[in-house]
Amino acid sequence: MSISPETRAHVRVRANFACEYCGVSERDTGGDLTVDHYQPRTAGGSDDAENLVYACHRCNLYKSDYWAIDENAPRIWNPRSSPPDEHFWLSNNGRIYALTETAVFTIRRLRLNRVPLQTHRRRTLEQTAERAMFEQTRQVVEMLARTGEQQHRLLEEQQQLL
Ligand SMILES: [Zn+2]
Repeated sequence: MSISPETRAHVRVRANFACEYCGVSERDTGGDLTVDHYQPRTAGGSDDAENLVYACHRCNLYKSDYWAIDENAPRIWNPRSSPPDEHFWLSNNGRIYALTETAVFTIRRLRLNRVPLQTHRRRTLEQTAERAMFEQTRQVVEMLARTGEQQHRLLEEQQQLL
């Protein structure tokens, strides 16, 4: 069995074209990402969409075919079963911190604090802040323009009265 093109397309769109483990997007990497079997095929994992995770090459490489062999073995975070903010906290410096044991293991195994990722996260945070500041400036400029128009109208009215 292999993943059908339809399933692959579904997984890609569902992930919003970004790695579900680290968040890097196709736009960032300049090409398609890979499809990872959360439960590896070698451990009996299926090709069903529910077992598939859209993943960048690095995350897929580091995760490899890891599978918890028993109840006590550490697990890799499954993006299918819980949202990232239940496991990870993103700091302004671009590092992510673990909130759960699963996250501790996932960060270590997938090297989610690799330097280029931290740089990428910092840049994204800065761009978001810049956009917010730009938007605020735009609103202030608009408000000033409206106030200017109102003053101009008032002045015209006063002149007519005189
Ligand atoms: Zn990734």
